[in-house]
Amino acid sequence: MHEIVNPVTEEVIATVPASTPQDVDAAVTRARTAQRTWAALAPGDRARQLRRFADAVDTHLEELAQLEVREAGHPVGNARWEVGNARDVLEYAAGGIERLTGAQIPVAGGINVTFHEPLGVVAVIAPWNFPLPIASWGLAPALAAGNAVLLKPAETTPLTALRLAALALEAGLPEGLFQVLPGDGPVVGGALVEHPGVAKVVFTGSTGVGKQIMARCAAGVKRVTLELGGKSPNIVFADADIEQAAAAAPGSFLDNTGQDCCARSRILVQRTVYDRFMELLEPAVKSFTAGDPTDPATRMGPLISAAQRERVRAYVPESAPAAIRGEVPAGKGFWYPATVLEGTPKDRVAVEEIFGPVAVVIPFEDEADAVRLANATDYGLSGSLWTRDVGRALRVSRAVEAGNLSVNSHSSVRYWTPFGGFKQSGIGRELGPDALSAFTETKNVFIATEESK
Ligand code: NAD
Repeated sequence: MHEIVNPVTEEVIATVPASTPQDVDAAVTRARTAQRTWAALAPGDRARQLRRFADAVDTHLEELAQLEVREAGHPVGNARWEVGNARDVLEYAAGGIERLTGAQIPVAGGINVTFHEPLGVVAVIAPWNFPLPIASWGLAPALAAGNAVLLKPAETTPLTALRLAALALEAGLPEGLFQVLPGDGPVVGGALVEHPGVAKVVFTGSTGVGKQIMARCAAGVKRVTLELGGKSPNIVFADADIEQAAAAAPGSFLDNTGQDCCARSRILVQRTVYDRFMELLEPAVKSFTAGDPTDPATRMGPLISAAQRERVRAYVPESAPAAIRGEVPAGKGFWYPATVLEGTPKDRVAVEEIFGPVAVVIPFEDEADAVRLANATDYGLSGSLWTRDVGRALRVSRAVEAGNLSVNSHSSVRYWTPFGGFKQSGIGRELGPDALSAFTETKNVFIATEESK
């Protein structure tokens, strides 16, 4: 049994039974049966069913958002965006089903065609920071491409996932096609990774666990997509609109209380505008209101758990000097204040992913120095750069080793565009026009048209 704790009130709001390896085994068998029928449906029928599922999410948007507020402590506005994102990803994937076409390739002696065959049963292992969107990024294209999905939500946030599976059934998706298996990471996640009936694992989580999963998948040559950690740079050049860059910076590392793989937690500022930027950053950080997540004016909730708060504290004791520190409510809740540190590229806080509302600001001299610092990390998920020079925007975007760059913006996730990491931030891409292909095998068929001799 897992007790689900509201991170604002610290009260237990639900208890959820933990699945066992036997449950995983039975779920794989059910999923395989459902998948065969699902894959045999006409593409238009699958698309229609997935759209009904998306509609059910839309109809229950407020209910799911409120559940996310209670389970994860996210501000209600953010939670609504998250549920809307899951709905959009389902709709977008449904739209891709009828466009998942093979090719006819000219060859000698016959006709050659390719098919995109579904993989079978796909395991999606999700983290707690954006429970519904991240689950949907694997779930939606996998189902659309004709697979069944077993979703393992994080221990702290299974409630929205369980509700999502119930909505899928209500919307008419076949029994067994999409199942949720809550429980311990190593037990349930481990059983899914090891199960010979699981063809692919989509894992989003920490780099350490991701590496273990990739190694274990290698034993069965299992397909794997990994979305892992980040330590993304926010590069502010002297020629940028400094007011705008400073006003936007807090959201880029404080949204979701910094529990965001794309958080721009390293702010690199050109030395000539460093003081001006820090002057402007202070009021911007302090006005990023932390408090009751049910209040639409709230920008920042608590951390997910007491353990996560301890982790953040270990990086930055609250007694340590900070350049800027925000305020959080006193009393119950796993609160941690917005914190900006000034530092050097070698500091532990500038190298490791903290996954809390903490950023470190580092000065740089010129463009080459900015690129060198931006790339001085094993991660490569996201990054932003602020400049008015179009040539520089393009040069630096190409030079930074990361999967998702934004210029004069901190936007990372759009369901129409590919998302994923360079280096140790992951392998493979989610979202965007190719999302369905990642859940298929290409089959080549040659048909001889000449008599064999
Ligand atoms: P985590 O690695 O602890 O857990 C992620 C999931 O894996 C959970 O469901 C957990 O139960 C499961 N798990 C844990 N151990 C396992 C094992 N041995 N075998 C199989 N499954 C196991 O990560 P977390 O703390 O839940 O999430 C935070 C991390 O996720 C951060 O590092 C963050 O950067 C990363 N993240 C990455 C992205 C991305 O898209 N790149 C998005 C969100 C979060």
